[in-house]
Amino acid sequence: MTKQTAPDNNGQSGEAMREYSPAQELINNTAYIVMILLGAVILIMSYGGSAEGWISAIAYLAYGVAGSFWIMVFVCPFCRYFDTRSCPCGYGRIAARFRVKETVECFDEKFKKHIPVIVPLWFIPIVAGVIPLIRGFSLPLLVLLIIFAINAFVILPLVSTRHGCKECPQKETCPWMKYTAQPAG
Ligand code: SF4
Repeated sequence: MTKQTAPDNNGQSGEAMREYSPAQELINNTAYIVMILLGAVILIMSYGGSAEGWISAIAYLAYGVAGSFWIMVFVCPFCRYFDTRSCPCGYGRIAARFRVKETVECFDEKFKKHIPVIVPLWFIPIVAGVIPLIRGFSLPLLVLLIIFAINAFVILPLVSTRHGCKECPQKETCPWMKYTAQPAG
């Protein structure tokens, strides 16, 4: 682990921040990637492997990828970690390829405004999976839904708040930390 100094709004040096290697960035993205892949499989199973299921799964995968880019375009430019190795998931450096840095004071507002865009990713597979489960019980589908829920609602928030966000200088004002980290301490 290395440290760098965070630039403030005027480009001046601020407090020391942790830097993440490409391997650490990949690890920090793993829970999200697993959620999207599991969600796609649940959609295929929910439709009994039909063409509708595959189309839904592909649309969900595309939504998952688009959601990541949405955050890069509309949230990351307002983040202190933009274009630094201190972004835990690497989005900040990718975003710098097609966006310029914006004012950091707007981060909280942008986060609250744009995070709801990706929230349905957490619920679409649950809704799509529970409906056929009620109509006709399927153990494999039930197991997949439980694994999906544990990954999406327990592991993913824990990885974020206990690992990357834990050292974030924005954590005092970040809505994500406010609603997910405090119960865990
Ligand atoms: S920490 Fe979050 S908001 Fe900041 S650059 Fe990384 S992904 Fe974007």
